[in-house]
Amino acid sequence: MDDFQAVLDEVMTAVLPVVGQGRVANYIPALAAVDPSRFGMALATLDGQVFGVGDWRTPFSVQSISKVFALALTLARDGDALWRRVGKEPSGNPFNSLVQLEYEQGVPRNPFINAGALVVTDRLLSLTGDSRGLLREFLREESGNASVDFDPVVAASEAEHGHRNSALAHFMASYGNIENPVPRVLEHYFWQCSLRMSCADLARACGFLARHGQGASGRRLLTRSQAKQVNAVMLTCGTYDAAGEFAYRVGLPCKSGVGGGIIAVIPNRCGLCVWSPGLDAHGNSVAGVEALDRFTTLTGLSVF
Ligand code: GLU
Repeated sequence: MDDFQAVLDEVMTAVLPVVGQGRVANYIPALAAVDPSRFGMALATLDGQVFGVGDWRTPFSVQSISKVFALALTLARDGDALWRRVGKEPSGNPFNSLVQLEYEQGVPRNPFINAGALVVTDRLLSLTGDSRGLLREFLREESGNASVDFDPVVAASEAEHGHRNSALAHFMASYGNIENPVPRVLEHYFWQCSLRMSCADLARACGFLARHGQGASGRRLLTRSQAKQVNAVMLTCGTYDAAGEFAYRVGLPCKSGVGGGIIAVIPNRCGLCVWSPGLDAHGNSVAGVEALDRFTTLTGLSVF
């Protein structure tokens, strides 16, 4: 089924009954105010067409989805050396868990849990002296939307309530796995999470992963092998401690965020993004999981 607009319409009709279910993330107070009845989904083909339904043009807080782009920027500069600082195995624990860090000597399981993303941010800072500006430029270019930006209110709210991320960063610093001053790493990490983008922006922005590392303008951003690595880590670690269920139900490399967004990559075909703020117990969007499940079931487009 290749009439993507018709597929998205059908998916939206089917998932509307579950939109609003789940709980909006409230541990970051600035996120708690989001209307749980929102739902949007967009699909961007590699030849530049974008299809969408519902609130697909409404910007939302990308939160952990930013971890994919920070990883790509860092991997492009650090290459395999990065994997000595952060692992690539599913954690089986919540995204903000501290427990594995002690017996793994301060090396986080993967770059998509908070501890791993803090290490990636630290590496990017060491390699470039920046992470914010680079990330914003990258996303503006890949999404084709020059107005993509951070949300200072969300960034400040995270900083104010960031005790756990702060604990993770200090704990890793005690093992020598954070090189920059912890407050600086945290600041950059919170800014990354606060980025606001729409489903359309994100569906386009993850196109480079469907193009095996080639950016929207044809420029090579990652080697084919690095693009494969990012997709693989998304599939195995991208959806909190529900990655197994995601692979089983959706069958695509995905990355979710507590803002209720989920991006998905269909290699050689398109980038996808769905958003609905109500989260399940793992932190994944209830309607988002349902929509992606229906999408791959209807189209047969999964990596399996
Ligand atoms: N900024 C959030 C945090 O650090 C990101 C969580 C997420 O989306 O998984 O807790």
